Amino acid sequence: MSDFFHEGELVAVLTTQPLDRLLDYRAPEGGCFAGAFVEVPLGPRRVPGVVWGPGKGDFDPSKIRPVTRVLDVPPMREEMQTFLTRAGEYTLTPMTQMLRLATRAPGLGDPPSMRRIYRLGQGEPDRMTDARARVLEVLRDYGGLAFTLGELAEMAGVSASVVKGLVKQGVVAEEDSPRDLPFPPLDPDYGGKDLTGAQAAGAAQLRAGVQSGGYGTTLLRGVTGSGKTEVYLEAVAECLRQGRQALVLLPEIALTQEFVARVEARFGARPAEWHSGVTMTERRRIWKMVAQGGAELVVGARSALFLPYRDLGLIVVDEEHDTSYKQEEGVLYNARDMAVLRASVCGAQVVLASATPSLESWVNAEAGKYHKLVLEDRFGDSVLPEMRAIDMRAETLPGDRWISPTLQQAVRARVAQGEQALLFINRRGYAPVTLCRACGHQIACDHCDARMVEHRFLKRLVCHQCGETKPMPEACPSCGAEGRLAPVGPGVERLTEEAQALFPEARIATLSSDMFGSARALKDQIAAIAGGEADIIIGTQLVAKGHNFPLLTLVGVIDADLGLQGSDLRAAERTFQLMRQVAGRAGRAEKRGVAMLQTFQPEHPVIRAILAGEEEAFWQAEAAERSQAGVPPFGRMAGIVISSPDAQVAFDIGNHLARADGPLRQVGAQVFGPAPAPIARIRGRHRVRLLVKADKGVALQGALRAWVAQVRLPAQARLAVDIDPQSF
Ligand code: ADP
Ligand code: ZN
Repeated sequence: MSDFFHEGELVAVLTTQPLDRLLDYRAPEGGCFAGAFVEVPLGPRRVPGVVWGPGKGDFDPSKIRPVTRVLDVPPMREEMQTFLTRAGEYTLTPMTQMLRLATRAPGLGDPPSMRRIYRLGQGEPDRMTDARARVLEVLRDYGGLAFTLGELAEMAGVSASVVKGLVKQGVVAEEDSPRDLPFPPLDPDYGGKDLTGAQAAGAAQLRAGVQSGGYGTTLLRGVTGSGKTEVYLEAVAECLRQGRQALVLLPEIALTQEFVARVEARFGARPAEWHSGVTMTERRRIWKMVAQGGAELVVGARSALFLPYRDLGLIVVDEEHDTSYKQEEGVLYNARDMAVLRASVCGAQVVLASATPSLESWVNAEAGKYHKLVLEDRFGDSVLPEMRAIDMRAETLPGDRWISPTLQQAVRARVAQGEQALLFINRRGYAPVTLCRACGHQIACDHCDARMVEHRFLKRLVCHQCGETKPMPEACPSCGAEGRLAPVGPGVERLTEEAQALFPEARIATLSSDMFGSARALKDQIAAIAGGEADIIIGTQLVAKGHNFPLLTLVGVIDADLGLQGSDLRAAERTFQLMRQVAGRAGRAEKRGVAMLQTFQPEHPVIRAILAGEEEAFWQAEAAERSQAGVPPFGRMAGIVISSPDAQVAFDIGNHLARADGPLRQVGAQVFGPAPAPIARIRGRHRVRLLVKADKGVALQGALRAWVAQVRLPAQARLAVDIDPQSF
């Protein structure tokens, strides 16, 4: 354990309050360790915080107040302090905000008594008072029921100290609340599969990494169905054998249940699940158990990186290329990068698993920074689907129809054989645009720079930026013409309509994240599809991720060109990944699948690379292009987004920063902009962006900090630094 501070010694406390500094206090009665979670007075309030280290002593000593109390939760470990500090430095995030990431769940403000329950004990009181009698009466009346301290005191009409007095004498029993129960132990040798030669070799490589007990990152590549999951579960098993904890990050909650079932089959018990669907009570339990070692394996979302692991030995980032690993609000971080940082701090192994890795990881693996591990073949006899283009220039289709005759024919043939076909479109809702045929007006969100998307299933217009919805108007909001509003372009719901008309006999199932009220409904739908209860599946990006549909042998991509529009430098990478993932859904069992890409530009280099399955060649070409442009991962970049309800204010700050670029020039960094951000208005705030570019070796963070420190933001304005932005 780290430093101990005796009563009265000065300690520096980090709170979650928006003050960008540590505050000095005196250690409380009984002293405290560095890392202790405490409650401290701040003005008239009491706020939670962490004892970060020795106090500076630069306050008037007579004004320094003592820590109110030490909270009844395991103290923060030194490596967690280091991780938060480095992550904060990397992302230019104030420490107070970093601390919030690490304390989001445990209910730090809770009095310790909330963590205990009280029931009738065995002992006799030394003397009986009215107050004591009332406590015993309540406990007897409720026949053995357990209460929290607050509940019991309130029902008996006594102060908490009366209950505490009875606890001391054993008259009332105090126990850990059931939510503090440890998770059932996992058995590393429970349900292992017989691995193929290549899988066994891969598993041995990962096991050796875990056995080394130190840091290392491995990029685990392999087509969908090659057994990446089976292989990394062996690394988890080894980690458990070593008595260390493991974390598996998944990009999407919808994938959790399927994965948890696999964990149960492999290790004989369920892991701790950590994501937005988990209740607060359960989160507190997990937080505490992770700290005490009562949770050996955590499966969850990116925020699970900030749990207080007692001894973390392995982090798996599944589908590591997935863009949802980038947190785009609050603290802007990429969970993949943070996983590597976390692991390097605590001496753990990282496994980045993907069929289509991010260019960053591919480059790191080629450069030898990461170990490489490739599974070449699919498990069993199944082979990769055949890839074909449908040249849309040669197809005859009426307007407002998107399934080409060639694709229709292919779908019919598959369904006739009792197989499944998937039609993929990466657009939620009915139609991306609602247009007035009288005046040309397009319905837009009142708060964002975005069109409203019609969702017939919800019977509303929805803004995909801010989530705002409104009913579909009868008349055009601009010219007032009635009955002239018309949908333009396809969404998944509209495609379903088209398919229903084309294939009236077929059973059609639509999979789009917004069509399910609950994770359970979605899970049922996925299970129904896997069980063969549908002939045609119509889906958005949701289906591209990890699900296993054994009867599926045909994938039709409605608009393969969609991702290639726009100026985003990562567009090619995204399209390549998405198309390969979607195509990978076809033919997982014994039947060879076919993937058909509807495209107006079959000669586009990205489309050609997808068709030819030339993965290495594609990455090399992409890498060369990025290297030429000096952009990540070959150069460094940061985006500065300034937002304000007033567009002019945002631009003025942007212009001011652009001129005051001295600190950047000193390190040879360049600034571009200000320009409207990729989404120029969200929730009523106007956003302008500056982009900073520097060479690979430059220590950009320090320069950025000095640079942005030059502006004083007016009350309503905000500035966010986005290191390694997703779009540039
Ligand atoms: P990936 O993660 O690469 O998509 P999975 O690990 O999910 O691949 O494997 C695909 C399917 O094949 C899963 O149902 C898995 O259980 C099965 N599988 C893979 N390897 C084996 C093996 N050695 N023995 C039995 N089943 C296997
Ligand atoms: Zn909006």
